[in-house]
Amino acid sequence: MKLSSVKKGPFTLYTIATGRFRLDGGAMFGVIPKPMWSREIEADSDNRILMAMRCLLIHSEQTGKLYLIDNGAGNKFSDKLSAIYDFNYDEGNLHSSLNYHGFSVDDITDVVFTHLHFDHCGGSTAFNENNEAELIFKNARFWVQATHWASANSPNARERASFFKENIDPLRTSGRMSFTKGKHEFEPGFYVEVVNGHTTGQQLPVIETGDFTLVFAGDLIPTKAHVSLPWVMGYDMKPVDTLQEKQLLLDKWLHHNAFLFLEHDAVNEVIALKQGKKYVEAGETFSLHEI
Ligand SMILES: [Zn+2]
Repeated sequence: MKLSSVKKGPFTLYTIATGRFRLDGGAMFGVIPKPMWSREIEADSDNRILMAMRCLLIHSEQTGKLYLIDNGAGNKFSDKLSAIYDFNYDEGNLHSSLNYHGFSVDDITDVVFTHLHFDHCGGSTAFNENNEAELIFKNARFWVQATHWASANSPNARERASFFKENIDPLRTSGRMSFTKGKHEFEPGFYVEVVNGHTTGQQLPVIETGDFTLVFAGDLIPTKAHVSLPWVMGYDMKPVDTLQEKQLLLDKWLHHNAFLFLEHDAVNEVIALKQGKKYVEAGETFSLHEI
């Protein structure tokens, strides 16, 4: 598999493919009827759509840091969950993708989580020979919004199925957690923006250098089809907040000619935005190295 990279200002950005899985198409598109969403992304016989778990690796020349944004679902699933989600690593996993770009897990200095749903943070840990979940990053700090950490540790019944003990406990006991509070600048040109509709305290990394802006759109805009305002996931805790956050941020990002890096879109890696008749719409599709 060919994985993209690009250099912008002091940052080199790399695509990290951590695997694919399938989620229920109806849940992915909320109130949108299937005749509409299935024209954008085809469903399988179980009504599931194929999803990427595409992460972003950022090397900074300014600080020498190597940031990993999210790390996929990992590979700690029971047979039952593997069958439900159809996890597939044919196109690479976290290790093979890092190796492809000349890195290993030991090189990562900072893991920045958008949030701690299993398909974003499960790659942090693997089962050891005693079947205990162990962190695979030996040298990294882990970053999450303080408000998200609080909700991940006492989730409501609806969100609980997205937070796995084996993903979160090793982080808690690591002594290497750092908590961001709102908009946080990691270094000049790299900061996170906070949204709360999908889950409390989701943080979206933004790279801004010269006239170049790239937004890691996480679960605010998981696929190209989700740029359209009412296309909000059924998984979201506060869908109307997502709607407002999308409207506000898409206007701002269009104004900055920003590119969106799509974590879950199985086909589209990076998209541009354009002004539609009324609202911002998805523009052209790119590979990371083409922008
Ligand atoms: Zn999520």
